[in-house]
Amino acid sequence: MSELSEYPVLLYYKYVPIALPERFAAEQRGLCGTLELKGRILIAEEGINGTVVGKRDSIVRYMEVMQEDPRFADMEFKISEGALDTFPKLSIKVRPEIVTLGADIPLKADLDNHLSPAEWKAKIEGDPDIVLVDVRNRYESQAGMFEGALPCEIENFRELPEYLPQLEALKDKTVLMYCTGGIRCEKASALFRSQGFEKVFQLHGGIVNYHKHFGNEHWLGECFVFDKRMTVRVDHALNPIGKCAHSGRTTSRFVNCLHDLCHRLFLLAPETQQEDPETILCPECRQAGITSATADYKGSPARSLRG
Ligand SMILES: [Zn+2]
Repeated sequence: MSELSEYPVLLYYKYVPIALPERFAAEQRGLCGTLELKGRILIAEEGINGTVVGKRDSIVRYMEVMQEDPRFADMEFKISEGALDTFPKLSIKVRPEIVTLGADIPLKADLDNHLSPAEWKAKIEGDPDIVLVDVRNRYESQAGMFEGALPCEIENFRELPEYLPQLEALKDKTVLMYCTGGIRCEKASALFRSQGFEKVFQLHGGIVNYHKHFGNEHWLGECFVFDKRMTVRVDHALNPIGKCAHSGRTTSRFVNCLHDLCHRLFLLAPETQQEDPETILCPECRQAGITSATADYKGSPARSLRG
């Protein structure tokens, strides 16, 4: 394991029944505490979903301990490079779902329609009837996506059930869906099929796994990840496709809207912010007439007036 960086980041999940999630969460807190791991782990009766960072030896030990548990013996760990401060703390929570879809009907993750990266690539290249559907959030697709993919106009995965009727026209097509690491697709696939989409396939291991095998073939831009790195460049030779929401300049820099009640993530080029500091408000808030003087944020004039 000497090829691991000094502070590897582990990304993993598995849909597998966990009978006593609270007790398992307590065990995980003990294990991660001893190994001084930081990050976020969600545990539910349906499985586990984690992203942790730590010293190389601790990360190796964590994988060993997990794989000794028969439930996780075949769990796939995706490893990327991190740093000591990739995650500020350790958070382990028990939730109803390991990734929240909140569909009205109970959905079991689909495990039968995975395409390996090689099968995925072959379908893209050989089947003219396919439609690629990016089931990630709007801002993730803006940073990068598969060529010709259809992004979903959602701010959060929970909005997917409500958004789905807009994809009605794809019902008799072959739908190839993908997300970052595969976890969302297993649920999205079950949702699509429950709504009458019959030919649905999902990319096994998601974008991260595909890039490991085929780099940026058929891919444009970067891959958004949910930690302080925000975007991870898939290939350094490739230009980002993200565009500044205010100026249209090419950028891969994400910021949150200054107005806390909005807090929307959007792309903002550093030069644009330098030219006009008010661009730290998202276009929607600016259009609504909000300025840095009237915005509500920590330390804002509006908030200090209220005392
Ligand atoms: Zn805003």
